[in-house]
Amino acid sequence: MSVDRRRFLKIAGLTTLAVASGSARKALTADAADSTMATPPSPPLTAQRWAMVVDIRKCLAAGDCRDCTLACHRVHNVPDFGNPKDEIKWIWQEPFERVFADQEYEHLEEALKHAGVPVLCNHCDNPPCVRVCPTGSTWKRETDGIVMMDWHRCIGCRYCVAACPYGSRSFNWRDPRPFIKELEPEFPTRMRGVVEKCTFCEERLARGKPLACVEACKHKALTFGDLEDPDSEVRALLREGFAIRRRPSLGTQPEVYYKL
Ligand code: SF4
Ligand code: SF4
Repeated sequence: MSVDRRRFLKIAGLTTLAVASGSARKALTADAADSTMATPPSPPLTAQRWAMVVDIRKCLAAGDCRDCTLACHRVHNVPDFGNPKDEIKWIWQEPFERVFADQEYEHLEEALKHAGVPVLCNHCDNPPCVRVCPTGSTWKRETDGIVMMDWHRCIGCRYCVAACPYGSRSFNWRDPRPFIKELEPEFPTRMRGVVEKCTFCEERLARGKPLACVEACKHKALTFGDLEDPDSEVRALLREGFAIRRRPSLGTQPEVYYKL
């Protein structure tokens, strides 16, 4: 190879390297700029014991509002079979007198007796559903009390459905996927033969986001917070007025409170 040719190749190689490293530098700089401009992830929301307070009078004032149900079911890919027999429910409304059927409210105003009250999994402190599950598909998270679900481990025996005294668990008798109105790609779908229920939006808490139902309620009827924190909003609400829980005599210790 002649000296001129060798020199040419050397110069060409160096030029290519310079151009390439310049582009790479630009790309790296652009990436760095993009990453500084992107919103940093929010820290997870944590608590020693998550709990919810439902203000029934605010729900009563809101009439037949269903914003909490719509928001929850949309972000969690809850199917709508259009048929009460197959219904899958994470949060829904029941008449007051049915929700608190074991309690006396003889002289309570009629409107309140028939008012729609939001009901969901109570994330019981002493959950019978957890005790009966043979596969450990459902368990109480010790860090914050959320009663969790692992749909991949659920074998569909429905012991938990029978054990829950609140009807908070639904079973997929059919493949739910064709009945999801608008697929939320960030949340898993379930399959036929699996039980599901509310998980206090644990996936949103992990990303620092509020519960979907709480966020959607423009009447501020739902409050979520740390029951162990005396300065939390839930503790303030429970301090200031009377609140009841569903079927307290069963000893399940529900962590959803209803303020009258
Ligand atoms: S409400 Fe039912 S499903 Fe939820 S923790 Fe209590 S027993 Fe289990
Ligand atoms: S249906 Fe699934 S979650 Fe319920 S008890 Fe059986 S295995 Fe556990």
